[in-house]
This record gives sequence, structure tokens and C-alpha cells, in this order.
Amino acid sequence: MTKPLSNMQQRDVEAVLHPYTDAMKLRTTGAHMITRAEGVRVFDDRGRGYIEGMAGLWCSGLGFSDRELIEAAKEQLDKLPYYHLFGGRSHEPGMELAEKIKEIAPGNMARVIFQSSGSEANDTQIKLAWYYNNAIGRPQKKKIISRMKAYHGVTIASASLTGLPPNHRDFDLPIDRILHTASPHYWKEASDGESEAEFLARLVKELEDMIEREGPDTIAAFIAEPVMGAGGVIVPPEGYFPAIQAVLDRHDILMIDDEVITGFGRTGNWFGAQTMGMQPTSVSMAKQLTGSYVPLSAVAMNRDMAEAIEENSGRIGTFGHGFTYGGHPLGCAVGLKALEIYERRNIVGHVRDVTPTFHRLLREAGQHPLVGEARMCGLMGCIEVAPEGRKGFEKPGAVGTRLMEELVARGSIFRSLGDVLAVCPPMIISEAELEELFAPMHEALDVTYNWARSEGHL
Ligand code: PMP
Repeated sequence: MTKPLSNMQQRDVEAVLHPYTDAMKLRTTGAHMITRAEGVRVFDDRGRGYIEGMAGLWCSGLGFSDRELIEAAKEQLDKLPYYHLFGGRSHEPGMELAEKIKEIAPGNMARVIFQSSGSEANDTQIKLAWYYNNAIGRPQKKKIISRMKAYHGVTIASASLTGLPPNHRDFDLPIDRILHTASPHYWKEASDGESEAEFLARLVKELEDMIEREGPDTIAAFIAEPVMGAGGVIVPPEGYFPAIQAVLDRHDILMIDDEVITGFGRTGNWFGAQTMGMQPTSVSMAKQLTGSYVPLSAVAMNRDMAEAIEENSGRIGTFGHGFTYGGHPLGCAVGLKALEIYERRNIVGHVRDVTPTFHRLLREAGQHPLVGEARMCGLMGCIEVAPEGRKGFEKPGAVGTRLMEELVARGSIFRSLGDVLAVCPPMIISEAELEELFAPMHEALDVTYNWARSEGHL
């Protein structure tokens, strides 16, 4: 028996088309209305509190009630609520934030261009790679290699980079010039008896073969998240990025680093590139850039690319790219404050301090017979449910969704990505709050296990 929808839920379902939602199912369940938040907790319209184990969408690194971020936003609204960076104009928060990003970004970054979302950042990355290669006289070098299970956004171009079927199916995607190589998920993708080193060698060979097959002079860039997020929290094997990097260097291929989730401390370093040994030529950032109090994203690029763009725009008269809200002063002011907080409060140090507890809790959950694998890197992790001895259910997603519902019903917000249960709490979470977040895990796994048996999934 489903409960009748509340008045709010009814109004919501009649008016909002919800992203990443089964719109038909929502007609009977209604949406979970979140009304306010405090620290690492959110509260619903019935006044029930939950620990937000996903930091919203992997983004609210500083929790939901940071007074300093709120005051920074108010001050900026009073001073200059809007201006842009087009056609020779600028503003102080934009300039200062770009300077700061140059200082902290991985690699040697020379210029920063702003957008509002992660998708726009990655869309911009593709355009920059194309523009750069046109500018330096190699117009045929345009294909971008992404990976299966990657998540880079949902605009036409960034959804094409994304390597997940629901983002392509029925949207007529991907567009051409986008290729996908294998995802570096050892547990799931390795063949029987293949060691991790053999698996890695195979991935590198597959990439090399793809480049040879397509022609190295047609490949502009490789794009990767240091740790795949929405594709299922996939941590690559040891040595993966250095091995990939060597292939890219041999063929003069750009390395685009998508730090939209992993940036600003999430993996225990300022950037995932540092944790994973990547050498990016450009970097996408969003989410924790502002603690997600205001939408803002950025692309930082190396000197080579920045100079080529500058020279080309000198030749043709303008650099024809930019968004009305790219570098919105409100986002830049809050971003500056967020970066100041990460430094002053040593958020990276805090992430490192609480990571052992987080990993222990995930490993303990990983012992349950319903769990196939527990994965983790810094303060992002997951457990993947699977029948014992197998790597997936015949009907994917049902058990993972049920487990998420059982956890939410017990006050802990996790997110099911099919049968992967992701967890990526605000970076300010304490050890006690982590224990609280995981407290219902064992019971939820037991209840889900029994349900899965009764429904024939096991
Ligand atoms: N890149 C990565 C790695 C992401 O995780 C996401 C969003 N989860 C995006 C890009 C897209 O960002 P947005 O939803 O802000 O467009």
C-alpha cells in the first residue's frame, strides 16, 4: 500500500520534471521534500533529520550551514550582484579567484575560464581542445577519448563524453569524434585469473591500439576523472595514470583532468590528480569550488594552450566563447571564501584524519554476504551489492535501490547508482557522525538480503 501524496508532493509532481528520476514511479511515491539543513544534516517536511552521506550530489563539502560562506555571499550581493568578464570587462572576485586557482591547481596552469556547471566546464574543455588544435595548425586532431563508466555531464557534448548507457539511450548520443575506452575497474572487468598488473597492461594496450587504429594525428585529448564517481566510484589500479600518461605523451595527446568531484580535498589531497599521479594539461572544477552554495565551475589550462588561444584570438579578433553567468561575482566571492576555509581550517588534513574510520566502516560493510566489493579513496566510497561469487544481479539495480531505501528510512542518506551504493559525505564530517551515518548499515543489509531472497534476486 502506498500512502497518498501530501499536498506539496502532489504540487511538485504536477510541476517539476525531476532529473535522474523514474517520472512514472514518482507519481505514486511522491518526492522526498527537503526543507532545511544544518551542518552535515538535512531535514524533511515532516521534520525528520538525516545525515547527508552524499554531500548532496558529491558537492557540499563544507556542509549546509557555513556562516562564513553565507556572509561572503551577502556581502557580494550588496556590493556587485552581477557583472561579467566579456569584451574587456572584469571584476575583482573573478580576477582573485582565477589567481588562486592557478596557485593551487595541479600541473602548471596559466589561465582560468569560468562557467556555472561541471557539464559546461567539460563542454568548454572539448571546445578548447578543438580550438587549440585549429590555432596551431593541426585541424584534423579532434577526437576525444573518454572511458566507459565515465561521468562528465549531460550537455550534448559532455553527455557524449559520459560513458553510461542511460545518458546516451534515447538522446541520440554520443556525437561523433568521441571515443570510449575501457573502464579501469579490476573487480568487474578483469577476466578470470587475470592479475591486476595484467589487467592494467591490457587496458594500456587497448588504448594504444585504439589510438593506432584511429590515427594518432586524429586524437586531440583523453579525459578522465581521477576516481570515477557517478559511474560507480571506480578507483583505478595502482600505476594506471602514469601508464596512460606515457601513451598520451608518445602521441602528443592532451590530458584533461575532470576534478568536478575529486577537487578541493575529497581524495586526501587538494586534487585527485595528486592522489593518482596524473599530469593534466587542463583541469575542470566545480561543486566543492564554492561548497556548492552558488553554482560555479572553472577550467584551468596550461601555458601552451593559453598562448595559442591568445595568439589566435589576436589573428581573428575575438575568442568566441563564454557564458552569461560564467564567473558570476557571487560564485567567485563564495569560491574565494571556500578556498580560504579549506586552507585556514586545513580541510585536507581533516579528510586525512577521518579517512581511516571511513574506510574501516566501508570494509566492515563489505564483509556482508550481500556485498561484492567495497571501494574507497579518501572521503568517497561505495559498496556494490552482488550475489555471492558473482559480479552482478540478473535484474540490475533493484537490490541497490532497496538497500538505499532501507538506509534512508533509518536516517542515513546514501545514493544508489544501480547496485552501487555510493557515499561521499561532507568533508567536515566528524568521526562520530561517520559512525552514525553507518550505524544502520548492517541492519539495512540484513533486511535487504532477506527481501532479495524472497523476491528471487539471490
Ligand atoms: N564531471 C563529473 C566528474 C561529475 O561528477 C559531474 C556531476 N556529478 C559533472 C562533471 C557534471 O556536473 P554538472 O552536474 O554540474 O553539470
